[in-house]
Amino acid sequence: MDYDLVVVGGGLAGLSAANRAAELGLRTAVLERGQDALYPCNSRYAGGLVHLAFKDMTAAPDEIHAAIERSTGGLTDPALTHLLADEGERALTWLRAQGGRFIKAGPYEWMRWVLAPPRPRTPGLEWKGRGPDMLLRALTANLEKRQGRLLRGVAAGEILTEEGRVAGIAAQNDGGRFAAPAVLIADGGFQGNAALVAQHIAPTADALFQRGAGTGMGDGIRMAQALGAKLTGMDRFYGHLLGREAFGNEKLWPYPILDHLASAGVLVDAGGRRFCDEGIGGVYMANETAKLADPRGIAVVFDEATWTTTGADNRFPPTPNDSFVRAGGTVHAADTLDALAAKIGVPAEALAETVAAHNDAVARECYGALTPSRTDTRKTAKPIATAPFRAIQACAGITYTMGGIAIDTHARVLAGSGDPIPGLYAAGSCTGGAEGGPRAGYIGGLSKAVITGLRAAEHVAAVRGR
Ligand SMILES: Cc1cc2nc3c(=O)[nH]c(=O)nc-3n(C[C@H](O)[C@H](O)[C@H](O)COP(=O)(O)OP(=O)(O)OC[C@H]3O[C@@H](n4cnc5c(N)ncnc54)[C@H](O)[C@@H]3O)c2cc1C
Repeated sequence: MDYDLVVVGGGLAGLSAANRAAELGLRTAVLERGQDALYPCNSRYAGGLVHLAFKDMTAAPDEIHAAIERSTGGLTDPALTHLLADEGERALTWLRAQGGRFIKAGPYEWMRWVLAPPRPRTPGLEWKGRGPDMLLRALTANLEKRQGRLLRGVAAGEILTEEGRVAGIAAQNDGGRFAAPAVLIADGGFQGNAALVAQHIAPTADALFQRGAGTGMGDGIRMAQALGAKLTGMDRFYGHLLGREAFGNEKLWPYPILDHLASAGVLVDAGGRRFCDEGIGGVYMANETAKLADPRGIAVVFDEATWTTTGADNRFPPTPNDSFVRAGGTVHAADTLDALAAKIGVPAEALAETVAAHNDAVARECYGALTPSRTDTRKTAKPIATAPFRAIQACAGITYTMGGIAIDTHARVLAGSGDPIPGLYAAGSCTGGAEGGPRAGYIGGLSKAVITGLRAAEHVAAVRGR
């Protein structure tokens, strides 16, 4: 065998696993499809907020676990979610030992550990030299020092087997064979594969905006399925609401996001009606948008008071310094709702009814009678009453898919029978079982990547007697 472990994908999951494996004395290679030294991947583009279900990584595991349960509706694998809750602090300590630098970027728990230097709060994709990029560079350098190999420009195509056991990877386009008794899939999910997105998430996959590197093509899922792997939770994704003009304007993604404005006001479809519970939050709203016949027909409606308060108050907000507008985004404004409806092309009567019902619920602090009803324990609804009334035509941005390959607490890939497939592991965004559910509960992609990556490496090392 050439290696003890071959890793597919050089994002945070793959590089964490490879470094841990090399630390433990394993001969390790990472196959990475990207060619450039700073190849694109979601880990490099990330905002850098390292948290678990919006809890501090060092919080008590019981508290973290309860937060995961709340946001996923308990529909996840409890063994896996307990593992994540238990391992948060250890993963953070390991990242710091690798050279990861963190700052506290705000008052909320989920801002306690932000990779430094943090990205600015300005619109657009600003990744170069920012915390996540610098962490990947540090992990790459560490891997080389530990005699591990990062092979760029190599796309894994097939898992090799010998007598029913994993025996390595064959690269696409005759790119070589890499023999190893253990393979870790860490290819980042299937958000970049329109056919798989259409099959599992949104019939009109092209109407979702690719809010990330788009490098997760579902190769890992395909390769694992060929060996009988079980898939889980495929119908949900991590994403946010963006201005629809992001489709033609690169300054309008991945930030600012419009989630907070929508949660304060209303999110309407092309018919001017609400279609989901805005009180649950932006990841949920993005998922519900994806299910619409016309996902690009949505609009976020709010008023002047919300624009100047809520619009200015989150980590990557649209309002300060008119950043959304200066980046080329359109915020429609009108003194009457009828005029606003005309500007965004929705029926005036429907929009007036939608806003009246919303304002009535806010005034009475009673949201159960709304259709659909609205959760009032998480996000504060605000009246749409102060002119000018405002609206932003929006879309759902897909960042990564939350479901995928089923794994156990050692990141071993599970077969349909529930038994691990010997020698096959998966980590990071290509795995399922820890996120999703009816509320599209998001637990944090970076934390999931590191923890599952470390677990995989440690199990391979244990099997190899290290
Ligand atoms: C804009 C943005 C902001 C985000 N902000 C945050 C945040 O603040 N906090 C947070 O927790 N999460 C955040 N995330 C999510 C987080 O970045 C991801 O969940 C996490 O980085 C996933 O890591 P990964 O290693 O699983 O996948 P990736 O980082 O996507 O890496 C997968 C790698 O596999 C490679 N690959 C794919 N197919 C193959 C193949 N066949 N052969 C070889 N290589 C292959 C890809 O090229 C890629 O380099 C954000 C993501 C984005 C895009």
